[in-house]
Amino acid sequence: MDPRILQQLRAITGDRGLITSPEQLKTYECDGLTNFRVLPDAVLLPSSTEQVQAIVRVCHDAGIPFVARGSGTGLSGGALPVKDGVVISTARMNRILEVDLPNTRMVVEPGVINLEVTERVAASGFFYAPDPSSQSVCSIGGNVAENAGGAHCLKYGFTTTHVLGLEVVLPNGSVAHLGGKSLDAPGYDLAGVFVGSEGTLGIATKVILRIVKRPECIHTLLAAFGSTMEAGAAVSDIIGAGMLPAAIEMMDNLAIQAAEAAVHANYPNCGGLLLVELDGPTAEVEALMQQVDAICRKCGATEIRVAQTDAERALVWKGRKAAFAAVGRISPNYIVQDGVIPRTALPRLMSEIERLGVEAGIRVANVFHAGDGNLHPLVLYDRRIEGQEHAAEVLANRILELCIEAGGSITGEHGVGEEKKMMMSKMFAEPDLETMQRVRCAFDPKQLANPTKVFPRPRLCGEQPGEYHPHPLELAGVAERF
Ligand SMILES: Cc1cc2nc3c(=O)[nH]c(=O)nc-3n(C[C@H](O)[C@H](O)[C@H](O)COP(=O)(O)OP(=O)(O)OC[C@H]3O[C@@H](n4cnc5c(N)ncnc54)[C@H](O)[C@@H]3O)c2cc1C
Repeated sequence: MDPRILQQLRAITGDRGLITSPEQLKTYECDGLTNFRVLPDAVLLPSSTEQVQAIVRVCHDAGIPFVARGSGTGLSGGALPVKDGVVISTARMNRILEVDLPNTRMVVEPGVINLEVTERVAASGFFYAPDPSSQSVCSIGGNVAENAGGAHCLKYGFTTTHVLGLEVVLPNGSVAHLGGKSLDAPGYDLAGVFVGSEGTLGIATKVILRIVKRPECIHTLLAAFGSTMEAGAAVSDIIGAGMLPAAIEMMDNLAIQAAEAAVHANYPNCGGLLLVELDGPTAEVEALMQQVDAICRKCGATEIRVAQTDAERALVWKGRKAAFAAVGRISPNYIVQDGVIPRTALPRLMSEIERLGVEAGIRVANVFHAGDGNLHPLVLYDRRIEGQEHAAEVLANRILELCIEAGGSITGEHGVGEEKKMMMSKMFAEPDLETMQRVRCAFDPKQLANPTKVFPRPRLCGEQPGEYHPHPLELAGVAERF
């Protein structure tokens, strides 16, 4: 990087807020998707909106691409640095600025960790509903950019439901306020546009969150089935009966084994395990629990347990939330997939994934948000065995194609990022992609904010629709990547 630019950046953040040594830069070369790596030219650690603004202005004037980074737990390569670019980390912007319980609002900086939001208001009987399994480490800024989900988003909604307003540094260095504390601000819903935009529209520097009153009663039930197909049928029937549990999660036997090895959650050893949580007024929860119990038994449940204490309930969730990482105990390498299907297709897709895994000689563990139809097949492989990585990647992509064919989506919550950008043209027609790219150009005409992500080929701003020429890789489809 031009030493004069570095000098300008150092003047903004001071020495402690600028990383340029190759050893330290390696920490930032990837996110949770570790098979993509790029070393950035520099990492900036601003501590205020003004510093973010000044950094982005330098980048804008010099034409330097920048990538925002929260905790780097993303699983689609969203925070992967861009060649010849800088990373802007929000790690030092980690203050809770305002807690307004009567109006159920909080204002936080983007580097605040998800779980800290709930921890701050728990004693007053409130919580922040979106609860990704990574909630003890991931940042609110990263959640906003990915529209993060979690077990309890089935009932309470994804991040977008709980982010009411944003302060954003736009890619030209100006500051905009999108949405606000009150509901349904007039004009375009630009906060809605920003949530899920994966760092391509600017950097969020303050976030207004909605918090929720803790329900009077919470019951968590574990139901053991012989197979994920049976468990999947129970999910469809529970929702079909008109109930909306707070969460319905599913784990197959491999995922159960991994979670048990890591956390000793005392799960039943079975082919398919459902965790069903109901919350609300006590009388209602108790009545609905009986219905859930009856549906599970009708669908073949061999054992049903209800957590009896808060500690038991916490252990049930600890096992579920540790399951992704725990899979490392049963396989040296694995791909975390993230697809969505209509709930009613669960039994069929579960059986199809099992068949494809057997055919490919690859084990697939399943642990996922079943109530949302948001699958997380974990495709297990050993990189040291020649050809296995390739076979795992082919299988992982075939699973996504199945999701599209079933009327679902290539991502439920992990985002498109670097990993799935070539899949976008399998899901969207060209006019749809063009419309999205025009939004991107309106925010970022110079294409400096997290460029090269999300779209198969970033549109050149100013280009007319008729001049759109798909990237050769886009035409060849995702298989070309491997
Ligand atoms: C074990 C494990 C379990 C997980 N479970 C879940 C789950 O249940 N649900 C779920 O949704 N995800 C899950 N994830 C994925 C990940 O934790 C989420 O995507 C999370 O929202 C990323 O937050 P982060 O702070 O780590 O963001 P990063 O990985 O640092 O960044 C993610 C994206 O956000 C952008 N970004 C970061 N900060 C800002 C900002 N201030 N302004 C604009 N853009 C920004 C980055 O450029 C990047 O595109 C899991 C990951 C792991 C490793």
